[in-house]
Amino acid sequence: MNDILPGEVETWQFLERSARKVFGAYGFAEIRVPVVEKTELFCRSIGETTDIVEKEMYTFNDKSANSLTLRPEGTAPVMRSYIEHKMYAQDPVARLYYMGPMFRYERPQKGRYRQFHQIGAEIIGVEDPRVDAQVLAMLIHYFEEVGIGDVELQVNSLGCAECRPGFRQTLVEFLQERLDSLCEDCRRRYQTNPLRVLDCKATGCKEATAQAPSVLDHLCSGCDDHFSQVQTYLRLLNTPFTINPRMVRGLDYYTKTTFEMVTTRLGSQNAVAAGGRYDGLIADLGGPSLPGIGFAMGLERLVLMKGDDHEPASRADVFLAAMGEMASQKAFVLMSALQRHGLHAEMDFSGKSLKAQMRRAGKLGARFVVIVGEEELARNVAQLKDMDNGNQAEVVFDRLEEELRARVLGA
Ligand code: ATP
Ligand code: MG
Repeated sequence: MNDILPGEVETWQFLERSARKVFGAYGFAEIRVPVVEKTELFCRSIGETTDIVEKEMYTFNDKSANSLTLRPEGTAPVMRSYIEHKMYAQDPVARLYYMGPMFRYERPQKGRYRQFHQIGAEIIGVEDPRVDAQVLAMLIHYFEEVGIGDVELQVNSLGCAECRPGFRQTLVEFLQERLDSLCEDCRRRYQTNPLRVLDCKATGCKEATAQAPSVLDHLCSGCDDHFSQVQTYLRLLNTPFTINPRMVRGLDYYTKTTFEMVTTRLGSQNAVAAGGRYDGLIADLGGPSLPGIGFAMGLERLVLMKGDDHEPASRADVFLAAMGEMASQKAFVLMSALQRHGLHAEMDFSGKSLKAQMRRAGKLGARFVVIVGEEELARNVAQLKDMDNGNQAEVVFDRLEEELRARVLGA
C-alpha cells in the first residue's frame, strides 16, 4: 500500500480530471460507494473459484460478527447500489463512473499493489452492440486525452449462459488429455474454472494450450451476431482493435464482449484496463434482469506509463518579501487579500534575510515578488518584480492588490 505524495499527486489529479471530462461527454454521472461491503456480495458476483475470492480478499468480522470485505473491485458494489436504490425505476438506462481505492491481498510487485486505485465506468440497461463499441471508443478516447500511447485494445467474446457451458465442456476434455503438462494450479482448477487455464502465465500451460479450442468457434448465433456487430461498429468509429480469443477474465460475471487494454511497457503487469459485458449480474444479485457493460482502469499502471511526462508542480503567483515588523504586517494582510481572490500567494514568517526570502521565492517558482522594506513603507510603496523577465517597478502599496490581480488573472 502506497502513500501518494505531492509531486506525484499532480499526475493522479490530471488522470482523474481527464476521466471526468471524457466520461462527461458520453453522459456518465459519478457514483461513490463505500469501500466495505458484505463479503457475500463479492462471492456471489466475482465467483467462488476465482483468484480474487479464493485468496485475495481482505475479509474480517465486525463487532456484530458480520463478515465484511474491503472491495477488491468496483462493479459489484455499484450494482448493489443500483439495485438497492432502484435506479432502474427512475431511468431504464444508467451510465455511472467511479474512482477510488480497491484492495487485494496479492504479491506486491511493480504495477501490482495491495491497495490500488481504479477508475471505472458502467452502462446498465442497453444490450445493443453499439453500446459495446461506444464504451471501447471512449476508452481509446481517454488514452488519447491523457497522452498514453503503446496500448492495444484486445477484444473477445466469452459467450453466454446458452453457449459457454458447451465450450467449457470441450475445453475440459481438451485439458484432460494434457494434464501432465499443466502447472499445479491449473491441474487443480481445470474442472472448476477451465477458462483460467488459457490465461495461465506458466510456460507449460501456455504450450499445452496453444492448440486449445477457441471460444469464438463455440458461440451461439446470438453471441456470434452480437460480436460481429461490435466489430462492425468499432470499424465505423475507426477504433483500432485486435481479436484475442484466448483472453478470459479473472471474474466470473462476464458474458459476451470482453476486452483489455494491454501494453508492452509494464512487463507481465500488461493490462492497464479491462472489462466486459455482464448481462446476468444484476439479476444474480437480486435485481431486475438488465444487461450491463463496463471496465476498470488501474491508476497506478497509468501513472507508471505516464512516466516523467507528468504535470509540472504548480508555481506560486506571488511571493511577498517583507523586511521589518510593520512591513511584514502589511504584507500579511495583502497576501490574505490575494489568496481570497484565488492567487497562490506566500510569504516567510520567520524573519529571514531578504536574500533568503528571494531564494524561497525562487524555489516556489513565484511569477511575481513584492518587496516591502521600512524605507518603501514610509513612502507607502513597494517594489514589484516580474521574475520571468526581471523587470522591477515601484508601485503604490494600495494599488498592489489590483495590479497583481490584473497581471495574474487578467482581471
Ligand atoms: P491482472 O491480470 O493484471 O491481475 P486483473 O485481470 O486482475 O489484472 P481487473 O480485476 O480486471 O484486473 O482490474 C482492472 C485493472 O485494474 C487491471 O487492468 C489493472 O490495471 C488494475 N489492477 C488490478 N489488480 C491490481 C493490483 N493489484 N495493483 C494495481 N493495479 C491492479
Ligand atoms: Mg489479477
